[in-house]
Amino acid sequence: DLVDQSFKRINEVDGKVKAFLTLDEENARNKAKELDGQVGENALFGIPAGIKDNIVTKGLRTTCASKMLENFDPIYNATVMDKLDNANTVTVGKLNMDEFAMGSTTENSAFQITRNPWNLDAVPGGSSGGSAAAVAAGILPFALGTDTGGSIRQPAAFCGVVGLKPTYGRVSRYGVVAFASSLDQVGPITRTVEDNALVLQTIAGLDPNDSTTVNQEVPNFVDGLTGDIKGLKIAVPKEYLGEGVSEASRQSVLDALKVLEGLGATWEEVSLPHSKYAVASYYLLSSSEASANLARFDGVRYGYSTPNPKNLMDLYLKSRSEGFGEEVKLRIILGTYALSSGFYDAYYKKAQQVRTLIRQDFEDIFAKYDVIIGPTTPTSAYKIGEVVHDPVTMYARDLLTIPVNLAGLPGISVPCGFTEGLPLGLQIIGKHFDEQMVYRVAHAYE
Ligand code: GLN
Repeated sequence: DLVDQSFKRINEVDGKVKAFLTLDEENARNKAKELDGQVGENALFGIPAGIKDNIVTKGLRTTCASKMLENFDPIYNATVMDKLDNANTVTVGKLNMDEFAMGSTTENSAFQITRNPWNLDAVPGGSSGGSAAAVAAGILPFALGTDTGGSIRQPAAFCGVVGLKPTYGRVSRYGVVAFASSLDQVGPITRTVEDNALVLQTIAGLDPNDSTTVNQEVPNFVDGLTGDIKGLKIAVPKEYLGEGVSEASRQSVLDALKVLEGLGATWEEVSLPHSKYAVASYYLLSSSEASANLARFDGVRYGYSTPNPKNLMDLYLKSRSEGFGEEVKLRIILGTYALSSGFYDAYYKKAQQVRTLIRQDFEDIFAKYDVIIGPTTPTSAYKIGEVVHDPVTMYARDLLTIPVNLAGLPGISVPCGFTEGLPLGLQIIGKHFDEQMVYRVAHAYE
């Protein structure tokens, strides 16, 4: 029935929202039929799921919203997909995103623009915009996204749903198309904190196929949702309520802090002095890593290949020029430049040093506090067309999400009121591998 409902809802609303790039209706209905009448042992048994289109799904087209992979049918599953299959969830389809996860609006998709279900003239955020929109539109109870520099938390905030970026190393990236490997994480987008915890529980853990996964026990996140946050110490960085942050975002966080105080927590203002360098450092590092990761798309091994090339160099040049979109090319050029000999010390090395300082800022705070709280984004969702042609403005608005990726920490966005009919998100950041605490606070607030 749930799978039926998802397809019914897709027929009702996805013509307008345009969250899906590919539907897997026949397989999904068959699997649902197979599961019908069986008794599931876990809470996700038979639950419909949507998957961001940079996570490879065996036999189901995986495009990264790029012309480069328009006809790419993977021959294997990402580890997170195997884990969902073991839990007997039912994949309904693949969700739109910014091409290769580069962007903050989902307008960089080569195929279609996804719209915000709260206001069809607004973007759903990005890069996991299809995932957040599908959950917000009531199509799915959960979707998977990826977060390299905010791409789960920011669209969750813009669409009024719950999105968690796990600690770096908590979830396997095997079978996730690499953007910036030192930052990428897969995480759940859901309507409630409890659902989010259930999905993370299912996809997390050590994976022999991804050496960056960590051998850390995966606690029962749902059991940790006690509602009790008495005596908890919250840090609020002044940079997260300062310059560049709208009054609406600031006020929504102050209101949320009152709720948390009412539940027995206390908060103090702190400082993340190096956070002002986070955006510059992130775009330099992520573009450098992307330039290396995307070298594999050469017209020979995967995806798009230009017809009738004159020679091998022509094949590389034309396949990449024709297969990649503007934003992806911009990042490859920036990253290649930053990594070229003679510039390495001035750019890449500097950015790495800044990254270390940002990580230390967080460590200093977490020596005294349990969680850090602020807005997820400086504003609510942009209008379609508002920022996409001005990448520097678009990048600058990632200032509140990116520090978390640079430090490898877990962070969640939970709905936190509205401004002018559009949702705002509250961001809760925890210590490494302390998703349990992040969820507990988010659940107590929600
Ligand atoms: N806005 C960020 C970027 O464009 C988001 C990336 C991400 O998290 N995938 O790089």
